[in-house]
Amino acid sequence: MRVLFLLLFLASAAAAKTSASLYLPYRYPGSLGYFKVNPKSPYKVVVSGAGRSWVFKGVEGSSKVYFVVPYGLKGRFKLSLYRGRREVFSRILRVSPKRFRVSRIWVKTRPLKGALLRRVIRENRLLRRIFSQVTPKKFRSSKLHPPLPRLVVSTPFGAKRIINRKKRSIHWGTDFRAKRGTPVYAALSGRVVLARKLYFTGNTVVIDHGLGIHTLYAHLSRITVKEGQFVKRGQVVGRVGSTGRSTGPHLHFGFYVDDVKADPMLVLKEQL
Ligand SMILES: [Zn+2]
Repeated sequence: MRVLFLLLFLASAAAAKTSASLYLPYRYPGSLGYFKVNPKSPYKVVVSGAGRSWVFKGVEGSSKVYFVVPYGLKGRFKLSLYRGRREVFSRILRVSPKRFRVSRIWVKTRPLKGALLRRVIRENRLLRRIFSQVTPKKFRSSKLHPPLPRLVVSTPFGAKRIINRKKRSIHWGTDFRAKRGTPVYAALSGRVVLARKLYFTGNTVVIDHGLGIHTLYAHLSRITVKEGQFVKRGQVVGRVGSTGRSTGPHLHFGFYVDDVKADPMLVLKEQL
């Protein structure tokens, strides 16, 4: 009896050693979460549901692995944590239902072709490559800095845009209304990995914060940082404008983890 008790005790001690703690305050599509892990081991998070999986790579030496509840998941999904190739945590969770705004617009569209189409494909590949980069942690704060002095949402994350009756795109960031020239702040410390004019997003800044986290600032009238430069949380990276495909001055703010889009308004409320 005593031996059995001791064995049970040892087994539970071993389980406690490998157990990682989960932080996931919201379960809406686009919610950010993380596991607190032992920084000495390599970890990854796998989210699966709706017939596909999303992999979030951890960085050795970091005590957190971040992940996102991907947009497009409905109902139940599986959340797993792997240490090396061993699954050390697994749980079935349910996505909280959320309605996304649908905006229907009728416009004369010009099909993208030739050199312009090639440019758009090239720029999209560049962004995908940047957002997939997982580098060591570059921030300290546990809260995002608001990207503008005042946050007034004009188009939320996940809004569906239907152009000429055809489902064309999903809005992968949050649009904030602001006057032209309003300062735009870095949401966290990090390295500027892109600071240039792109076809759709106009003057664009992307910051790599490490651990797979990137933020994007689009349609700027002016960019005030350079590629390769390190910026501090709250530092001005540019000014609000209407460059690229835009109908008026606003900031499009995006938040990505391992190239999976998160809802900036949820992330602004969460702990990192
Ligand atoms: Zn936008």
